[in-house]
Amino acid sequence: MKCAPGLWQIILLLALLVTLAQGSKRCTWIWDERTALPSRLSPGRNPKRNRERWARRWARRSSKRIRSKSRKGGANRVCQGKRSHGLSTSLATPRRWDKPSACASQTGPMARGAHLPPRVQREAMDPLAKLRRSRGWVDHMAEHELWAMLRKVRWPYGPVCPRCAEQDPRYVKILDADYRGGLGRWQCLVCAGAGDPGEGGTFTPLSGTILDGMRVAVSTLWLIVEAFAEGMASVETSDEARVNRHTTDRLFRLLRAAIYETRSTEPMVLEVDQIVEMDEVYITAGLKGCAGGLELEREPRKRGLKRRGRGTWDSDRLPIFGLLCRGGEARLFVLRNVQTATIRPIVEQMVQRGARVYTDSYSIYHFLSREGYQHQAVNHGAGEYALDLDGDGKCEVHCNTVECTWSWLRQMIRTYRGVSKVYLPLYVAQFEFLFNRRQHNRWNRTLDVLQAAFALPASSVTDLLDRVSSAQFAEVCPVAG
Ligand SMILES: [Zn+2]
Repeated sequence: MKCAPGLWQIILLLALLVTLAQGSKRCTWIWDERTALPSRLSPGRNPKRNRERWARRWARRSSKRIRSKSRKGGANRVCQGKRSHGLSTSLATPRRWDKPSACASQTGPMARGAHLPPRVQREAMDPLAKLRRSRGWVDHMAEHELWAMLRKVRWPYGPVCPRCAEQDPRYVKILDADYRGGLGRWQCLVCAGAGDPGEGGTFTPLSGTILDGMRVAVSTLWLIVEAFAEGMASVETSDEARVNRHTTDRLFRLLRAAIYETRSTEPMVLEVDQIVEMDEVYITAGLKGCAGGLELEREPRKRGLKRRGRGTWDSDRLPIFGLLCRGGEARLFVLRNVQTATIRPIVEQMVQRGARVYTDSYSIYHFLSREGYQHQAVNHGAGEYALDLDGDGKCEVHCNTVECTWSWLRQMIRTYRGVSKVYLPLYVAQFEFLFNRRQHNRWNRTLDVLQAAFALPASSVTDLLDRVSSAQFAEVCPVAG
């Protein structure tokens, strides 16, 4: 009988286990979405919920602040001050000072959103709030229209195969007009028939261009190119286009290199009676970081090199030689040094022999009259800035026009807060491009930048950038001596 309670306990335990096992067999687990917890995968990426949460938090804080003020009597003091300005008590002072809504009811329509943060309040009051949240005109155009404009710049005369340059509509067929929201996708039957190993002869308007790898919305692309044509810095542009700054930085570098590669090297002065001004300027630029892959054999230069006067590539004060045809274009060249041997080939290539050339009295220009140019100089050292040699009352001999461009150039370089001397030729090419189009409006400059971007295959632009960042300067800019 002693073991009876132990036996009973064991029997009861067994019975309990059997019951539990049967119960669990009967209860089949069915997925019910109502039992699922709300997703917490990316709570920070829901802007609407974040706004609501922020508004709630703001309301809580502001109500606490008002309560503590009213406890100290601060609100009373403020409202008593109002009363003392001559408002009648019944109109100006509500009875219940401790409630924030009572004080807010005096401010009219603002009272409705008094518990909301100022930005939300502002937006609630502003009839243009929705418009202001957008990024300008591009956000109000249909995506396919923006692609169509880009396509027009790329192919003014209709689709062209980027591999074999076929443009006969019988061989170039459209495959998908809605590809990437309107960019479109074509197939070249010639390349397809020849067994194109990659994509079967298919291509888009961006295939083979520097914009091919850009995975941004077309409106963002237009915004970035427009900002480049306006001479904005890339960080500022990334803020405006709402993309990462590396995205704008990469595109800016590619556009700058495309402009450098497509710049004109044709003669700029072809007539003998045309007037050309020449001058040089010195821009302080060192090696930033490890740009150019060049080994620094000396200490990095101190910030703000204060050297005045002339300089060379080696002294981090780079000469820029400029030629400006009056009533025409300007051409700028970054030089290694300023010597007659350096500038002579440039002048001979650009200016027709016999043309009128006005410079200052620097000795490097003395060769001009020997070479057959009608050279006149003004002596700045003697206070001479403009001369009237033919006696018609107009001081036509001066180089003030080209000197004026230096002030524009310095201003543009200043935007970028210090430029590496390795990349300076690209920046100068960009300045020359925009300066020669200064009479155009912004829209036309944007189209010109896009034309330059589409004028070259992407490989030649990236090759240039590779050479700039890895090779010596002289290989990049052979004309610079
Ligand atoms: Zn083809």
